[in-house]
Amino acid sequence: MKVNLMDMSLAELAEFVEEAGEKPFRAKQIFQWIYRGAAGFDEMTDLSKALRAKLEERAEIKCLDIETVQTSSDGTGKYLFRTHDGNFIESVFMKYKYGNSVCISSQAGCAMGCSFCASGIGGLVRDLTAGEMADQIISIERDTGEKISHIVVMGTGEPFNNYGALTKFLDMVHAEEGLNIGLRNITVSTCGIIPVMEQFADDYPQVNLAISLHAPNDEIRNEIMPVSRKFPLNELIAACREHVDKTGRRITFEYALIRGVNDSDDAIRQLANLLRGMICHVNLIPLNDVKESGLRGSSRLRAGEIAEFLEGRGIPCTVRRELGSDIDAACGQLRLNRMKD
Ligand code: SF4
Repeated sequence: MKVNLMDMSLAELAEFVEEAGEKPFRAKQIFQWIYRGAAGFDEMTDLSKALRAKLEERAEIKCLDIETVQTSSDGTGKYLFRTHDGNFIESVFMKYKYGNSVCISSQAGCAMGCSFCASGIGGLVRDLTAGEMADQIISIERDTGEKISHIVVMGTGEPFNNYGALTKFLDMVHAEEGLNIGLRNITVSTCGIIPVMEQFADDYPQVNLAISLHAPNDEIRNEIMPVSRKFPLNELIAACREHVDKTGRRITFEYALIRGVNDSDDAIRQLANLLRGMICHVNLIPLNDVKESGLRGSSRLRAGEIAEFLEGRGIPCTVRRELGSDIDAACGQLRLNRMKD
C-alpha cells in the first residue's frame, strides 16, 4: 500500500526518505513542494526522474478535492471540500487588513451537539488527519493564489477532541519548510475541554486560545451546549484565568447572540461579571439563523448595544464583521446541505 506523504511531519518524511535509500535533505525538498501546493511528484522538478519514479511507486499525496466555492463580493470564500473517503468539510477564506486568514475544520462533523451550530447536526463522522487540516490551507492558497498569514481552527469539530492531529498540524504549518506561519498568528477554539486546555497551555503557550462561551451561566449554557454539564462554567472560567496567568496571553470569548436566549440585559450583566478583571476580548457574533434548530440571531442593533455595555464595563469587545453576507450559508450549512443531497 502506498503511504500518504501529506500526513507526514518533516521528521517522518526524513525517515521515509532514508528508508528508501535517499539522502535526508530530499525530505526537506519534498516537504517544501507539498506545502507549495504540488499535487503530484511530476511537479517536483528539482528531484531526479529516478527519485520521482521511486516516489510514485511507494507513495502518494492524497489531497482534498474542492467540491464547491462560494465567493462573496468582499473576497470571502466558503469552501466545501471532499475527502478521499467521501466526507465533506468546510473552510472559510477571509481577507483582513492585517493579512489573509483561513478558518479550518478539525473533524468531519462534531460530537458536541451545540444547539445553535449547524456543524454538529448529524454528529461526529470522524477525526481529520493533520494532512487534511493542512491541505485546507494549501488548497485555498493554490485556488486563490494568495498567501495565508493567519489560521483559525474554528470550523467544524472540537479540535481538543482530536489533539494528536491538531498538534501535528500546528507543527507542520509552523515549520519553516511548511507554511512558515507564526504560532502567534494561529488561534484554536474550544468549547471548553478543560483538561486539554491545561495541556495546550504547556504545549503551545504562544498559540491564541478562543473559548466558545455563548452563555453567562450554567442554566443557559446547559441548554445550548451539552459540554457544560461535564465542565461547568465556574470551572471553565477558572481554567481560563489560569491559562492567562500561565501564558500571559489574552483569551478570546466567542459569544453568538441568540435572540431571547442569551442576549437579555440580565444575561449581559452576568457576562460582564463573569469576565471581570480577566485579560480577554469578547467577540460578539450575531447568529445566522439555523432553520434546523429554530434559533434566531439578535439584530446588529442589539449587538451594538451589548458591545457598548461591555466596553463600558472595561471588557474589550467587537461585533464580528459580517463577512460574506451576500453568500447565504452559515457555518456548517454548506456541508449540511450537501449531506442532505
Ligand atoms: S460550536 Fe463547535 S463544538 Fe459546538 S457543535 Fe459546533 S463545531 Fe462542535
